[in-house]
Amino acid sequence: MLNLSINSKLPNVGTTIFTVMSVLAAEHKAINLGQGYPDFMMNTALIALVNEAMQTGNNQYVHMNGLPLLRERLAEKMESLYNANVNADTDITITPGGTYAIYTALTTVLQPGDEVIVFEPGYDSYIPNITINGAIPVLIPLTYPDYAIDWELVKTKITSKTKMIMLNTPHNPTGSVLSSFDIEQLRSIVKDTGIFILSDEVYEHLIFDNKQHESMLRYADLRQRSFVCFSFGKTYHCTGWKLGYCVAPAALMKEFRKVHQFNCFSCNSPVQVALATFIQHKELYLQLGKEVQHKRDYFQLLMQQTKFKALPSYGSYFQLYSYAGISDEKEKDIAIRITKEFGVATIPVSVFYNKEKDDKVLRFCFVKKESTLEEAVNRLMKF
Ligand code: PMP
Ligand code: GLN
Repeated sequence: MLNLSINSKLPNVGTTIFTVMSVLAAEHKAINLGQGYPDFMMNTALIALVNEAMQTGNNQYVHMNGLPLLRERLAEKMESLYNANVNADTDITITPGGTYAIYTALTTVLQPGDEVIVFEPGYDSYIPNITINGAIPVLIPLTYPDYAIDWELVKTKITSKTKMIMLNTPHNPTGSVLSSFDIEQLRSIVKDTGIFILSDEVYEHLIFDNKQHESMLRYADLRQRSFVCFSFGKTYHCTGWKLGYCVAPAALMKEFRKVHQFNCFSCNSPVQVALATFIQHKELYLQLGKEVQHKRDYFQLLMQQTKFKALPSYGSYFQLYSYAGISDEKEKDIAIRITKEFGVATIPVSVFYNKEKDDKVLRFCFVKKESTLEEAVNRLMKF
């Protein structure tokens, strides 16, 4: 008898909520404010540059660490934005998306039994990517309703096995951002320890209300122990292109590349060629926060006509709304019902927790055309 059953490495994992809600939205012809992606056209000049790169023969493998010119321009960008001294040869690797960069950094560092501090709610790939490496997620809830880090609690969770702290700013799903106070707390906790930091900064430019993006790259003491992950998909409104990068000091990046080279080897060439040119338009990423803030403000204004109550969002693609005053239903149930009965898909925040937690909050993606937001709110007003 053949035994072809797999002893699952992720026995408790189902299909990601983003796919579940997007499929449900399509089935019910709902407006999809669930999965985080823009529904408007990206910059067509970038598309033209990719086309040109293909037409001029940039269709074979590029260097496994990423197109050298793109890495040089990224190093310049990080120097001008964060005053960071990043070596383009040794400290940057281009990856097929931010999620892959996160997975690769975790796989590079973690040994079975290592502990990783993870905050909840958090992006749904983190915990599976820790456990698949045999490491142990140590879950710390963010405070409700401002979704801040309770650093006193963090201190009590640090043990001799703590290998890494995972951070995400601006934060998915809550839109909270790290402050200078958070940075000071983090610095004092990791000082004189061998703890690494994985900082998910894919929303670096999507930050509002004149807040400063607290990148780990700004602080030499934090940078020396950090893998910082980014995504071009978020910066250039092309989430489907799946291109990102990781930045880490040379010795850490050397190990990262050992994992990367036999998993992906090298990423899409024409897109890298195009981005190496396009990234020079600094004004495009510098004004992105303001543009997206405008969408957040417009969405908030429209939503005032509904019974939902806004929680603050200072960054990312997302805005949380509480329905605590309207219904006792569980988040998952209400998200499914609103999709089916009212034609608007959202994401229940409970799915970003490992354990059962239900604050009666839904996540809405507002990076959409104004007409999409208007129609969605028209439908939600009936709720
Ligand atoms: N981290 C967070 C917090 C995200 O929301 C996303 C969005 N997809 C990613 C990482 C990954 O980005 P990418 O699509 O480039 O893999
Ligand atoms: N990051 C996106 C979100 O939070 C989705 C990415 C994905 O579908 N994996 O909606």
